[in-house]
Amino acid sequence: MSQKLIVGNWKMHGSRASVQSILAQLKAAQTSRHTLVVCPPYPYLAMCAAALEDSPIAVGAQDVAASTHGAQTGAVSAEMLADNGCRYVIVGHSERRLAHSESDAMIAEKIVRSLSVDLRPIVCIGESYPQRQAGLTETILFRQLGTLTQKLSPEQLSRVAIAYEPVWAIGSGKAAPKNDILHAHRCIRQYLNAYGSHSNTLLYGGSVNPQNAEELLSIAHVNGLLVGGASLNGEHLLCIANTC
Ligand code: PEP
Repeated sequence: MSQKLIVGNWKMHGSRASVQSILAQLKAAQTSRHTLVVCPPYPYLAMCAAALEDSPIAVGAQDVAASTHGAQTGAVSAEMLADNGCRYVIVGHSERRLAHSESDAMIAEKIVRSLSVDLRPIVCIGESYPQRQAGLTETILFRQLGTLTQKLSPEQLSRVAIAYEPVWAIGSGKAAPKNDILHAHRCIRQYLNAYGSHSNTLLYGGSVNPQNAEELLSIAHVNGLLVGGASLNGEHLLCIANTC
């Protein structure tokens, strides 16, 4: 199996002590079969980047501002993330789309800002349960991708990792069925190819765990996994990052 990208999204979990304990586990392992990225909450980013400086594990943020600087209380720019050792950033997670009313246009802007400082964006797309029930999965995926193709050149878009995260599978304890993932990834790949963006890394996210990682990584067009809950356990995250 070729090398994949495994991204752990810690969301709003942890403390200095628990982050230090996961870092110790990750550092003790020294290496993993696949490329591993951890995305801690903002206050722990610099600490993680410093701790992982000599390791192959990269650090990412969970969000980024859509502009460079200014009077925006609470916002963090792409420049600040890069300045603190981040190499990746998750953009447009469904939790942010929902709770913070993030639009596709705003998400595209965040991607542009990230690319301008060489931060690698991981954009999340995917349908809700009612949308799936209504047979709208492809429509939603193409709408979300469509805004990206309006704002980004094929060259810019090719540097973006796309995570297919069906909203109904996130935190449910049950990953999406294999055929659904295959179909969605095929649609995404075809759409990107038609635009001239040929080398995107495509991830799957939604209730990934050490038990299902091997099967998920074997699905065509799946180049990696975005892992939420299971990434808070260093042993589980390493197990996923070492999946054959
Ligand atoms: C996520 O929120 O990106 C996610 C995939 O979460 P979980 O793995 O817990 O379903």
